[in-house]
Amino acid sequence: MQTYSFFMPTKIIHGEKELLTQAQQLTRFGGKCLLVTGKNSARVSGALDDAIKALKSQGIKYEHFDRVESNPSLANVAAGGEVARQYEPDFILAIGGGSPLDAAKAIATLATNQISPEELYSNEFAHTPLPIIAIPTTAGTGSEVTPYSILTIPAAETKRSFSVPELFPKIAFLDRRYTERLPVSITRDTAVDALSHLVEGYLSRRAIGTSDIFAERGIRLWAQCITALREGEFSPEDRDRLLVASTLGGITISHTGTTFVHSLGYSLTYYHDIPHGRANGMLMGEYLRYTQEYAPQRVSNVLSWLGLADISEFAAIVKELSGSVVELTDQEIKAYAAKAMGSRNVGYSQGEVTEAVLQKVLRNS
Ligand code: NAP
Ligand code: FE
Repeated sequence: MQTYSFFMPTKIIHGEKELLTQAQQLTRFGGKCLLVTGKNSARVSGALDDAIKALKSQGIKYEHFDRVESNPSLANVAAGGEVARQYEPDFILAIGGGSPLDAAKAIATLATNQISPEELYSNEFAHTPLPIIAIPTTAGTGSEVTPYSILTIPAAETKRSFSVPELFPKIAFLDRRYTERLPVSITRDTAVDALSHLVEGYLSRRAIGTSDIFAERGIRLWAQCITALREGEFSPEDRDRLLVASTLGGITISHTGTTFVHSLGYSLTYYHDIPHGRANGMLMGEYLRYTQEYAPQRVSNVLSWLGLADISEFAAIVKELSGSVVELTDQEIKAYAAKAMGSRNVGYSQGEVTEAVLQKVLRNS
């Protein structure tokens, strides 16, 4: 019998304008808030306006750190940490895609611990990070329900995650209105990231009965959006399904972790500037082909929930959604495979993943 625990402490509030309707929920975290966002998305999405209204309605003071970059670096979160140490907020309200949400987790930790950003990777902190309220404006990472913060480490030329259970956001507000203005290409890239979490989580060695329930539901919801994703036109229902599927993907990987798809994808993002979801998408067809040997029934379930005949159809759809991808040299393939071997997520994949396996996946992708 499998031994496992299931822990998902984030309160999910789903619905339109619930940030305004349930603004009193914020008061239990204190009277001083640091807003953490990227440059534009919080404003463009309408979420920042709502957040400021919600904070003002409860008499909560706030300051705004709006300098989170895409794929935030250690230096970027250090700057946010400095602002937090000066301002001494009681909690953080993070708005954006995975980048601001992940940066907020690092900033929440640096705010209460006098450590360097490199020391975040100790995954052990003397002081509890500040509470985080998360408002996703992309439907992809699921960071609003994970304890993971993925940061770019220029010195190591890669991305790596740190995590402690206290980093699960306290509340996640899911309002599809905040994703309505996402350009089609970002909608597709982030949707493919959500799919990769659901599929990698379901096919992970660490999958458990409980995580399977979330993964299956998410994959089925995602399947209902395939036509919209291909055509690039999204109804409010499509936006809502993608957002919920993304959150279900986050709940799934909170328990299973991801697999070598994410580990390899980090190099594609770091060296070729390929958006995170698209990088995963490039690899997923080959990942399914590899995994089929070890978990054929599970791969067949994924295809059936997506309504697809076989892996070739799956690979073709993901490729179509990803648009242009990149050609890798043999030297790059060897280097990225070697780098990925250092990541613990490789071990969550089925079978015995070797450098040769990863090179083959990259070559065939
Ligand atoms: P992102 O880097 O947060 O955002 C991508 C772009 O989309 C940015 O230019 C952003 O603008 C813009 N944008 C966001 N929301 C928008 C909206 N509603 N309307 C218009 N533009 C919008 O992308 P992401 O894919 O969501 O997050 C990627 C990061 O998350 C990566 O670092 C990845 O490694 C990480 N990740 C984390 C987890 C986890 O469990 N924590 C899981 C998977 C991936 P701004 O720059 O103005 O914000
Ligand atoms: Fe991801």
